[in-house]
Amino acid sequence: MYRSRYMPCSECGASVEQTASASHACETERRLAYELFQLREEIARFEADVTAFLDSAPGRFEVWYARRERLGADGGEARAS
Ligand SMILES: [Zn+2]
Repeated sequence: MYRSRYMPCSECGASVEQTASASHACETERRLAYELFQLREEIARFEADVTAFLDSAPGRFEVWYARRERLGADGGEARAS
């Protein structure tokens, strides 16, 4: 069976010759670009996921609770006295 002399590096996606794989060191920029590329669908989904969460009952509670924590239950007047 034919096997390519080159295999993609699992860390950075670079095509690495099999005999050179032991000496391969990933370039930081290339590795980051490769990781970002693999996360592209998750990144694209993120905003929709956040919006959907904030629309859900638990999300609405979190928004209410955060506002309450920031302003206080009475809108911040208790801290003035
Ligand atoms: Zn690599």
